[in-house]
Amino acid sequence: MQTWQIGEAKITKVLEMEQQWPGTALLENATPDVVLGTDWVLGPYADPKSGRFRLSFHAFCIEVGDEKIVIDTCAGNDKVRPNFGGLAGLQTDFLDNMIAAGFGPDDVTAVVCTHLHVDHVGWNTHLVGGEWKPTFPKARYLFGETEWDHWKVEPQIYGDVVGDSVRPCIDAGLAELVASDLRLNDLVWLEPTPGHTPGHHSVRISSGGQDAVITGDLVHHPIQFENLDWVSNPDVDAAAAIATRRRFTEKYCDDHTLILGTHFGGPSCGLLRPHGDAWRLDPGHYPDLDG
Ligand SMILES: [Zn+2]
Repeated sequence: MQTWQIGEAKITKVLEMEQQWPGTALLENATPDVVLGTDWVLGPYADPKSGRFRLSFHAFCIEVGDEKIVIDTCAGNDKVRPNFGGLAGLQTDFLDNMIAAGFGPDDVTAVVCTHLHVDHVGWNTHLVGGEWKPTFPKARYLFGETEWDHWKVEPQIYGDVVGDSVRPCIDAGLAELVASDLRLNDLVWLEPTPGHTPGHHSVRISSGGQDAVITGDLVHHPIQFENLDWVSNPDVDAAAAIATRRRFTEKYCDDHTLILGTHFGGPSCGLLRPHGDAWRLDPGHYPDLDG
């Protein structure tokens, strides 16, 4: 299991699944030829033979002091997902992986969803006796208020995502609607990164002079750092998403902030480096990257 130590905070990547996707499923411009011509992504972030993206679904789990915070809960098991066959009726061992990482159902103190898309809220709930119940009954579930205002009325195209994975946490009294710049504690806070969705936020971790940021879906694949204007197909507001990617990339191209990509496969991380008038993600070598 991959872990990173950021000062006092330990971050663990808990995998639901890694798949290979055609780049064009996410980014119109990312044809096999283009990806295969982008040397620096081949290997860590894309398959060097086919040019397909390595696309990962995982949670980043942060342990700091007495708190165990889960960032994004992937797609979940048993969900009914019309129009999204790849996420329908999954039977993964994600929860076993969470338990192995020390983030069992009763251990988790907070769940953060960077946004309320289908692949970020799934394990908020699990099926108990035919009903969707919160998977982490002792956690507070932190949902962005702007995000909730949007999705509670937005038509659902991948099944009743809100009804099966968000509302049960609200009904159980575990949810808090929060601002996009909420500070969870001294070391962990949210930063607004709107565009992909209206209330999207990223997650910052800072401790002992070390820094990391969990992207959420402001970027789906590292190739977007070299092509900030490549819009992800699911981006709700393309112009805002581009502006956010630029602001984020310029801000964190600082030689030390670890970028943790919510859908990046392989190492799932890297440092931003300037390259000509664009940027690249350098997976480098991290002493704390284990496995
Ligand atoms: Zn996503």
